[in-house]
Amino acid sequence: MRQLNKFFLRTYGCQMNELDSEIMVGLLEKRGLQRTSQEDEADLIIFNTCSIRDLAERKVMGKIGKLGSKSKQAMIGVTGCMAMAKKETLFKKLPHIDFIIGTNNISDLNTVLDEVLETGKPAIRTDDQFEENLNYLVAKRDDPLKAFVSIIRGCDKFCTYCVVPYTRGQEVSRPPESIEEECRQLVDQGYKEITLLGQNVNSYGKDKLEWNCKFHDLLYRLDKIPGLARIRFMTSHPVDITRELMLAIRDLPSVCEFVHFPLQAGSNRILKKMHRIYTVEQYLEKVSLLREIVPNVSLGTDIIVGFPTETEEEFQQTYDLFKEIGYSVAFLFAYSARKGTPAFRWKDDISEEVKNSRLQRLLSLYEEIASEEKKKMLGSTVEVLVERQNRDEVQLKGRTRCWKKVIFSGNDQLIGTLQQVQITGYSHQTLLGKL
Ligand code: SF4
Repeated sequence: MRQLNKFFLRTYGCQMNELDSEIMVGLLEKRGLQRTSQEDEADLIIFNTCSIRDLAERKVMGKIGKLGSKSKQAMIGVTGCMAMAKKETLFKKLPHIDFIIGTNNISDLNTVLDEVLETGKPAIRTDDQFEENLNYLVAKRDDPLKAFVSIIRGCDKFCTYCVVPYTRGQEVSRPPESIEEECRQLVDQGYKEITLLGQNVNSYGKDKLEWNCKFHDLLYRLDKIPGLARIRFMTSHPVDITRELMLAIRDLPSVCEFVHFPLQAGSNRILKKMHRIYTVEQYLEKVSLLREIVPNVSLGTDIIVGFPTETEEEFQQTYDLFKEIGYSVAFLFAYSARKGTPAFRWKDDISEEVKNSRLQRLLSLYEEIASEEKKKMLGSTVEVLVERQNRDEVQLKGRTRCWKKVIFSGNDQLIGTLQQVQITGYSHQTLLGKL
């Protein structure tokens, strides 16, 4: 029988995939395998894939395709969203792969490896629904200070452009006791910052009303953990951002004043076509309530430009709204149709040229706003979690509560501590400061 000694694992896509990879690394190391960064010396190669953009998919398909001609010995597996979206058709496209594991079957990794080793035949696990049976505690994290913790999987919102409800299934909340236990253990290991993860964290607990623990209740519970300096969360759906959550952000010392509040588009017609289930007016009302309750809050967003039928005027509405709100962090994308989504059936009628020009205009605005924001911070003092040495190995690097990078001079014994840093300057993406 084949022996598996070393594995190579590459992750594509979002933080949820990163966390799934950390769990897979833990499972493989527990099995006695050693991780290698050299693909050529691995007996097992895993690609944990993303399906959210066409480009991401094409990249990974090309990469695995090339491997087919090179690697005759290594066992090759595809996991993640692409595995889920394409299922067994992947075996036809990439006949040299040995296994496919969907997003809901990470815990089956070792069983699948045994099956392939014993039978010599390809194996596949792509359940539509997630069963809460993951051993989260096994996750092997690279970062010693900041950890992702999964609190809910899947999404019930069905935005018309998004594959997530099809690749990750319905929402399944994780029991609060299990989340709390993992967070306590992480703090005991020295972790200072935890980011609670889910496709829509604000939906937490809605599928398990008997727990009587909504997302804000969970925050109150986790805030009590001694030594947990910072709690972040992502991602959110505007509809589920409640007043109770806003109050929790205001009142809980560990919860950072940063909310990812994805707008997606600034036109009511496009929002309806996207099935975002809010109007611009309802969105603005929530933003203003949040800013009233948490005056120092920073906002992040996702925007898609060039959605089918988006007119120039409708793009301008997105642009104007972006300017009015002044997001601190933005993920901006040109629309690309994803197979399996309702929008895939519509004509992708905005040319690439127009999409790119809209994207560039929005990017320039984002840069303008970001530099204006940094300018305003000059002279202020911010709390920084010191994360590591900067690339120059002279200065230190960390992040503010509102997710801004800061570089400043200091002793590396400060790594892992919270420091007050005065902002003295800024460069393109980073604030510069002194202790
Ligand atoms: S809420 Fe987010 S994850 Fe869910 S369908 Fe919409 S875009 Fe996708």
